[in-house]
Amino acid sequence: MDQDNRAFNQCVRCGTCRTFCPVFLENGWESANTRGRMIIIKELCSGRLEADRGVKDSLNTCTTCGLCTENCPAGISPPEIIERARGMLVALGLTTSELEDLDRKIVQSGNTFGEKSDRLSWLTDRSLIREKADYVYFVGCIYSYRYQETAKRTFSILSRFGATLLPGEQCCGSPLLRTGFDARRVLEENTRQIREIGASTVITGCAGCYTTLKNSYGNQFQVLSVPEFLSEHLSQIDLKPLDITVTYHDPCHLGRHNRVYEQPRQVIRAICRLVEMKTSRGAARCCGGGGGVRAGYKDLSLQMARRRLEDVPDGVDYIVTSCPLCIRNLRDGGGGERVIDLVDLVGMAMG
Ligand code: SF4
Ligand code: SF4
Repeated sequence: MDQDNRAFNQCVRCGTCRTFCPVFLENGWESANTRGRMIIIKELCSGRLEADRGVKDSLNTCTTCGLCTENCPAGISPPEIIERARGMLVALGLTTSELEDLDRKIVQSGNTFGEKSDRLSWLTDRSLIREKADYVYFVGCIYSYRYQETAKRTFSILSRFGATLLPGEQCCGSPLLRTGFDARRVLEENTRQIREIGASTVITGCAGCYTTLKNSYGNQFQVLSVPEFLSEHLSQIDLKPLDITVTYHDPCHLGRHNRVYEQPRQVIRAICRLVEMKTSRGAARCCGGGGGVRAGYKDLSLQMARRRLEDVPDGVDYIVTSCPLCIRNLRDGGGGERVIDLVDLVGMAMG
């Protein structure tokens, strides 16, 4: 952890991050904000602190939202340090039972839910799977098992452009990487299948899959988010304007982590009116669902979702976003069916 030692020393303990950390905003403990986490990790690394339950809770409640990175005057990236520290805890066998369970499910079933059923059960016409293609639509666990209508809609658009599917898609590895577990097996298996198809571009609608495919698969192919693909191909999609007003929630791993801000907005503006949330783009508040927090600390996660919903402007018909984890958390946090996927909005405009 040499690079982390440099980062700890760069941290000037100014506490700017206390203003932004969404977890600190909910529970107010110093150990639940970025500065507290940095101090804890430094003490852990020096051997002066033991990893008790408080330490595990401190490190495992970070949503990896990146709001601290965005605002840190010293220019350090705390979520990267926190992910590595989580890896250290896992290596020492000091993780939580909830995260162990998540790891076991992915290892045994290839998805975050431990589902044994067919991952492609939403696909009615299997002849649409091509053995060779330039584009692969990477569906992700949540769409495959929980939002199958959206997966179907996404693939019906992408297959018109020649996209295919992986015959044996596995979890992208994001939940493992975010929580410090070993993701090599799923990364290798997905890579093998993408290579076999000969695809140059992988397209995904999940912000977690996107950041993982883009940053953890060794740059072997181009990775596009569905909003990026749709905005590039807007002129080839027949959209009828809708007389509605929506707002857009920036998923942390699409926005702050990868700077995909404009493309989803271009797609929305091609369909209807867009009004921004109270905080948006780089300053967008986190939905509370990422970084394994939803799996390990559901109540805290939903508290953050409720806080995010306070940013929704009055009078909007829908809260549109581009990540299934954000959809699930914001819906469960009180947004209900008003929270929809960008692809569902596109589907409405396509009639
Ligand atoms: S804002 Fe950056 S430098 Fe300041 S306490 Fe937080 S992590 Fe450290
Ligand atoms: S990444 Fe987000 S949740 Fe984690 S320490 Fe930074 S601001 Fe807090």
